[in-house]
Amino acid sequence: MIPFNKPYLTGKETIYIEQAVKSGKISGNGMFTQKCQQFFEDKYGFKKCLLTTSCTDALEMAAILCNIQPGDEVIIPSYTFVSSALAFVRQGAKIVFADSQENHPNIDADKIEALITERTKVIVPVHYAGMACDMDKIMQLAEKYNLLVVEDAAQAVDSYYLPAPQPPKGGVSAHLINGNATEVPSKYSPFRGLGGRAALGGRGAALGSIGHFSAFSFHETKNIISGEGGMLAINDERFIQRAEIIWEKGTNRASFFRGEVNKYGWVDTGSSFLPSEIIAAFLWAQIENLDDIQSKRKQIWNRYYEGLKPLADKGYLKLPEMPIFATNNAHMFYLVCNSLEDRTKLINHLKANGILAVFHYLSLHISEYYAPKYDGRELANCDMFADCLVRLPMFYELEVESVNKIVMVIKNIFQ
Ligand SMILES: *Cc1c(COP(=O)(O)O)cnc(C)c1O
Repeated sequence: MIPFNKPYLTGKETIYIEQAVKSGKISGNGMFTQKCQQFFEDKYGFKKCLLTTSCTDALEMAAILCNIQPGDEVIIPSYTFVSSALAFVRQGAKIVFADSQENHPNIDADKIEALITERTKVIVPVHYAGMACDMDKIMQLAEKYNLLVVEDAAQAVDSYYLPAPQPPKGGVSAHLINGNATEVPSKYSPFRGLGGRAALGGRGAALGSIGHFSAFSFHETKNIISGEGGMLAINDERFIQRAEIIWEKGTNRASFFRGEVNKYGWVDTGSSFLPSEIIAAFLWAQIENLDDIQSKRKQIWNRYYEGLKPLADKGYLKLPEMPIFATNNAHMFYLVCNSLEDRTKLINHLKANGILAVFHYLSLHISEYYAPKYDGRELANCDMFADCLVRLPMFYELEVESVNKIVMVIKNIFQ
């Protein structure tokens, strides 16, 4: 059986865990935690990183930091994992679900403005499959309506939002223009350097460095892992101090250890969002192998794409369409069938041949939990992806021969 996922171990995980254990410091915010956080800040230009016990927890921290009050509205794509919405629902938000693009599961940035009301507080772009949402349009809307942006970058480690094509002289770049060609001067525009774009010298902005906050996952199904694990990146300096407090049970412990206050106590809300050093030690081993992991995954991704292209050319199925401003971190390989029946047939046929492919995301607006609270419109593209999208096996140790076999088995269905 070719599994859908297999967690990859670099071999150093247990060595670093042993080091952490022997150091006598195994609670959170020790050496490994700080090494991991520093790595992400330096490499991707995030202003401040805090490891968390999951991406869900990082999103919960973000929801608290956004100061969500009951009745506030948060715009989220419906085709996403539960946590993107759950964190905000727990703070009492009303979720306003947005549709996906027709040709990509990412939120359709052109449909967001119509959803904004006086109560809107936050937009949550989810970078599906690690491919960038249209962050220029989203940050422009945030600026115009004074909203906060929380990137759900759970799948988006080591992926980028590319610089826009060069602007006509003195003007604003082509894809910053949305219908009307007015430049919105913005301290949050990635062109002006919130987060990583400036730091990366025009090579693009790391996903997660553009919004006010971003949340990453190191769950065992992601590119780099720690079993369960996550990280909050804070790109707006105004929120850093409060983030540290919320991270450590509402105490100003971090300030205390920096010598800024002479005793620490309970100063705010919060929880125990920080992971133990054992988790961070595991993650550090993965981080050290990030480049190798990414290049192996991209190889697999490209092989799938080339192998399945003839079927897509004949219209039997659709392959992922990369937005022009996105890079691919090969988090997942998905394809889109022409119908629910086609997808069911495909998954069953793969299973009969010893290959586990999976589908995911029942649109959240029709979920058992949220549907009774949902009063919005039908979201046709979300429902289409919920019915037609399949994920093929994707993991570091997947052999090229296995990928070839999977491609062949899929081809057989259509012949
Ligand atoms: C995996 C994932 C999450 C949740 O991550 P955890 O670390 O398991 O909490 C949230 N959002 C998206 C889009 C994900 O893919």
